[in-house]
Amino acid sequence: MDKITIEKIRSEFPILNEKIYDKPLIYFDNGATTQKPQCVLDRIIYGYEHLNANIHRGVHFLSQRATEAHENARKTVGDFLGTDKREEIIFTRGTTEAINLVAFSFGEAFCNEGDEIVVSVMEHHSNIVPWQMLCERKKMTLRVIPMNEKGELDMDIYKSLLNERTRIVSVTHVSNVLGTINPVKQIIEIAHAQNIPVLIDGAQAVPHIAVDVKELDVDFYVFSGHKIYAPTGIGALYGKEKWLNAIPPYQGGGEMIATVRFEKTTYNELPFKFEAGTPDYIGSTALAEAVRYVQEIGIENIAAYEHELTVYATKRIQEIENVRIIGQADEKSAVVSFLVGEIHPYDIGMLLDRLGIAVRTGHHCAQPLIDSIGIPGTVRASFSLYNTKEEIDVFIEALKRVVMMLS
Ligand code: PMP
Repeated sequence: MDKITIEKIRSEFPILNEKIYDKPLIYFDNGATTQKPQCVLDRIIYGYEHLNANIHRGVHFLSQRATEAHENARKTVGDFLGTDKREEIIFTRGTTEAINLVAFSFGEAFCNEGDEIVVSVMEHHSNIVPWQMLCERKKMTLRVIPMNEKGELDMDIYKSLLNERTRIVSVTHVSNVLGTINPVKQIIEIAHAQNIPVLIDGAQAVPHIAVDVKELDVDFYVFSGHKIYAPTGIGALYGKEKWLNAIPPYQGGGEMIATVRFEKTTYNELPFKFEAGTPDYIGSTALAEAVRYVQEIGIENIAAYEHELTVYATKRIQEIENVRIIGQADEKSAVVSFLVGEIHPYDIGMLLDRLGIAVRTGHHCAQPLIDSIGIPGTVRASFSLYNTKEEIDVFIEALKRVVMMLS
């Protein structure tokens, strides 16, 4: 994307005009959450001004308008992920809730004592803990795919972990710490050869690379809206219809029922069976707006531009003496994690903040990964379509100053 396009994109994100300690904000914490363009902010206000009424059950005009907007949003998200079956898209609060849903409901239907679940060493806590809870509940075992020094999964060991006791494989598409883009298509093919379903955590993938659930033939795919320019509190689970029909509801309440009697309740059809309670229809419509925003720019254009930024940042960061980049996979997304000498990541992050630069420090909710590398954490700069090479230049000069102060 050229300079003019980037300037236009930047002008659409009001928060980029903020001054932090009197300095222009440089926001490199996009892996944690992204900023929101004006169209998404407007859509939230529009929702409350023009279509706010509880959905699905209402006969009145506003309720029907809100229902239509929510169901259209489902279609937009489905199209974006590559499914034309709207019942395969379940709105959730985000990635975490979506994984908990699958871990609980799939666990109830298909898991028993002695069974196994396979995850990888580079998972976010939200793709570890729900499976551990399932393992505890059902007396099962969690198996872990290790990685090599570059931060790539060991596919041979992965194959050797699968057996007749494996019930599901759940791995991240892109690591939030290392930036590694995992070979998910291959991971899915290998599991499917043994009739094992696969969940892919797309939290760090959907904002950055094209995803097609049908092409991947993935069984469950999850992501969070707030990492792709939408508000917090909304995300989605894609699930193959056959699985969603085969597993029980996650939560009980309104919306998810067909009939309720004290003797017996029957459940609603898909996707409503998994959406108990009043859904976040303002959030879903704002998510659809964010998806349209991304589609207009083109996810391929975003991917190419962010790749350019990542390559540039990776090159420039190596000007810093004693820098160690954590995660050097051949296939990488818009993340550069690093350490400098013995300096604690937290100290670097604190001082960069005083210069208006937002990076994340610590274990990034991936403690087992950080422990496996034997480091205290990392400093993580993660990029988005509104970042620029000029910002990276300012960041590198600031980092040089910070390192000098801390050495
Ligand atoms: N998985 C990955 C790979 C992530 O990066 C994150 C967020 N950092 C999550 C899951 C959890 O997402 P959320 O907190 O939005 O549910």
